[in-house]
Amino acid sequence: MFAEFALHERLLKALAELGFTEPTPVQAAAIPLALEGHDLRATAQTGSGKTAAFLLPLLHRLLGEEKPRGDVRSLILLPTRELAQQTLKEFERFAQFTFLKAGLITGGEDFKVQAAMLRKIPDVLIGTPGRLMEHLDAGNLILRDVQVLVLDEADRMLDMGFAEDVTRLAGECANRRNTWLFSATTGGGALREMTGQLLKSPKHLMLNQVAELNENVRQQIITADDPAHKEKLIHWLLANETYQKAIIFTNTRAQADRLYGHLVAAEVKVFVLHGDKDQKERKLAIERLKQGGVKVLVATDVAARGLDIDGLDLVINFDMPRSGDEYVHRIGRTGRAGGDGLAISLICHTDWNLMSSIERYLKQRFERRVIKGLKGHYQGPKNLKASGKAAGSKKKKTDKKADPKKAAPKRAPKAKPSLVSQDGLAPLKRRKPAGE
Ligand code: AMP
Repeated sequence: MFAEFALHERLLKALAELGFTEPTPVQAAAIPLALEGHDLRATAQTGSGKTAAFLLPLLHRLLGEEKPRGDVRSLILLPTRELAQQTLKEFERFAQFTFLKAGLITGGEDFKVQAAMLRKIPDVLIGTPGRLMEHLDAGNLILRDVQVLVLDEADRMLDMGFAEDVTRLAGECANRRNTWLFSATTGGGALREMTGQLLKSPKHLMLNQVAELNENVRQQIITADDPAHKEKLIHWLLANETYQKAIIFTNTRAQADRLYGHLVAAEVKVFVLHGDKDQKERKLAIERLKQGGVKVLVATDVAARGLDIDGLDLVINFDMPRSGDEYVHRIGRTGRAGGDGLAISLICHTDWNLMSSIERYLKQRFERRVIKGLKGHYQGPKNLKASGKAAGSKKKKTDKKADPKKAAPKRAPKAKPSLVSQDGLAPLKRRKPAGE
């Protein structure tokens, strides 16, 4: 029960108003430690309620302080505009019975309007690193009064090349008492380095047990012959599945546009979201989807980052994501906060090995599904290795030490070296830059 936390009564009132009664696991773990004044390093998936896990103790702390005459008192850094906007919305919901104000600083918005907002000195600043750096360089941003620095989706900020900006912004918050770092994955060396550099004796919270992810989301695969076959499957699924809202992920902008064109031609009400879209189009797409005017969104990974849309209960992977973590992020769009969801991945021969790596990474076997009348020729590899990957499809390598006549294939030769997933569960493909 939230009432058990020693949170300020105005926050408890907001929680009651919002109908939040039970804290989610990340909230139950993080809130008491944050209230005690610890630094936090939390691994929690999207949809776990992690925003409230840092906003509630943050608001509590600000409510307990006498507002200094000075400057911004807390800074929340996030990787994308959409995530920043959503965090602002959550802030406003929790702060509805307080006088605390938050300001939003992201790219794609008017710089001068933002500068004017900064002059009014919000209590909390929520933003993306790039634009915040521009304001810092322009002398619009003073962070010396920041008490709490929050880094949300820190792994993704690093992936997007924000390491230097984040470190500089953190350096500007030189008098902060606490740093709370959240990431969806355990991250790699760069994240460890950042944690060591920016956090003081943090409490580590591991709430992202990969194998337990998204219990309430059914995960299926459908094999396909080629992109054209995948498009037919998409049409069928959108016409026959029961869903409130659906999101279809592609790996590239070009594929997103192509699929969008096909769906529009078939009179499906759909929006497309990718890195070439300007801020106005992105806002419109998200608003229409939220309001229900449009039920289907075609998106690339980075564009869809952090989207929290009620009733999003169908995720389709037109292309298999390039890493296990990306898969987790995608299906994290559905089944949020306890709702049910369905995730369907369309698998042609180029997707198979990736799909099987991801199954092993998640320690799950996806349901195999066949759609009557749309069954293709490709049903998965004829021969499978113990790992679940395709066997014998590539030239066999001979082991020089062994009897050359009996030489068995050891591992499918790869164009690039494989990586072991952060959890050491299974080798994963090297992560490529997202095809936003
Ligand atoms: P997040 O992981 O922070 O993006 O949160 C996912 C969704 O769950 C958001 O819409 C939150 O408002 C909602 N949520 C977070 N915590 C709770 C809770 N304790 N009870 C009900 N809904 C929640």
